[in-house]
Amino acid sequence: MTELKIAVFDGDGIGPEIMAPTVALLRKLSARASEYSLTFETLAAGAGHYAKTGDALPKASVAAARAADAILLSAMGLPDVRYADGTEITPQIDLRFEMDLYAGVRPVRIAPGYPSPLGAPGDVDFVLIRESTEGLFHTKGKGTVTEDYATETLKLTRATSEKLCRFAFALARQRRDSGRGPGRVTCVDKANVFRAFAWFREIFDAEAAHHPDLGADHAYVDAMALWMVQKPAAFDVLVTENMFGDILSDLGAGLMGGLGLAPSADIGDANAVFQPCHGTAPDIAGKGIANPMAMILSAAMMLDWLAVERDLPALAADGTRLREAVERVLQSKEVLTGDLGGSATTQQVAEAVGAAL
Ligand code: NAD
Repeated sequence: MTELKIAVFDGDGIGPEIMAPTVALLRKLSARASEYSLTFETLAAGAGHYAKTGDALPKASVAAARAADAILLSAMGLPDVRYADGTEITPQIDLRFEMDLYAGVRPVRIAPGYPSPLGAPGDVDFVLIRESTEGLFHTKGKGTVTEDYATETLKLTRATSEKLCRFAFALARQRRDSGRGPGRVTCVDKANVFRAFAWFREIFDAEAAHHPDLGADHAYVDAMALWMVQKPAAFDVLVTENMFGDILSDLGAGLMGGLGLAPSADIGDANAVFQPCHGTAPDIAGKGIANPMAMILSAAMMLDWLAVERDLPALAADGTRLREAVERVLQSKEVLTGDLGGSATTQQVAEAVGAAL
C-alpha cells in the first residue's frame, strides 16, 4: 500500500465550494483502493488570508506543500484585494515561481457531451504546454511605468526552455504509447518577428532531433489561434511561452465549452500543482452553484501524474474512472450547473459524478 499525502489549498471565492466535493470523491476512490491511500492536509494561502494576515502565501504552507506528494489548488485571488502597486494578490502564480513549476499542462478535449461551440469537431484531444515561470511573466511586478511610457520584459532561459521541450516530447511519447495521440509536438511561437522566439525554436529543434520517432513542427501563435478553432483535431502536444499559453489555454477552455470544464497542472522537477484553469468567480461565490467539473478533472490529472511518478497503474485507472464519470454526467445533460445551461448546484453535480463512479 503506497501512502500519498495531498496538500490542499482551498483558495478564495468559489475555491472552497469546489474543493470540498473533489476531496470527497478522492476519499471515496482511496477508500476502495488496495494499492494506494490518500491523506489530505489543508494549507493556508490566498487573497482572503492576505486580507486577514498580510501574508498571501505563508512560508509554512509552501514548506508543507513541498513535502507533499502532490498539491491540489482551487483558485486564488479577489479583485478587491490588491497590493499597493495596483496588482492583485496572486499566490497561485507565486507558487509556480517558488517551486519552479515550469510546465503548465492544459488538456483540450472535446468528447461527446462537451458543449463545444464548435459542435462535434471530431476527435479533439490535445495538450497545450504553457511555460509557467518566465516568458513575459518574468517581469511580473518589475515592469517600468513612467509618465510617458511603460515597459515589461520577456525573458526565456536555455535551462528552462530545454527542460520544457524535453517535457513536451516525453508527454507526446507517453500519449502515443497509451493510444491518445500520434506522437507529435508543435512549437508555438512568434519566431518571424522576435529573436527570442527564433532562439527558442532552435532549442526546440535540437530536442526534436533526439526523438526521431516523434513528429515535430512549428506554428506562429496567431495562426495557432485560428487553427485551434478551425482544425482542433489536428493537434497532439503544443509547447509555448507563458503569455501565449495563458491566452491560448483560455481559448482551449472555450472550445471545450467553458472554463468550468478546463483542468490544468503545473509541473516541475520536484512538485506538481493541479488546479482548474478558471479563477475564483467572485460573481457566483457563496451561492453553491459553481461548476466543480474542472476541479474534479484536475484531480483526475493528479492521479494520472502520480501513477507515472509512482509507477502505480491503479492510480491511472482511477484517474480515468474519475474523468469518465464526469463525462457521463456531461453526456446525460441531466445534472449540470448554470454555466453549462443547467440549474443544478455544485453539490448535486458532485453527487452525480459520485454516482457515475
Ligand atoms: P474567473 O475565471 O474567476 O471568472 C470568469 C467567468 O467565468 C465568471 O463569470 C465566472 O462566474 C465564470 N466561472 C469561472 N469558473 C466557474 C465555475 N467553476 N463554474 C461556473 N462559472 C465559472 O475569472 P475572473 O473573473 O477574471 O477572475 C476572478 C478572480 O480570480 C480574480 O481575482 C483573478 O485574479 C482570479 N483568478 C485566479 C486564477 C487562479 O487561481 N488560477 C485564475 C484566473 C483568475
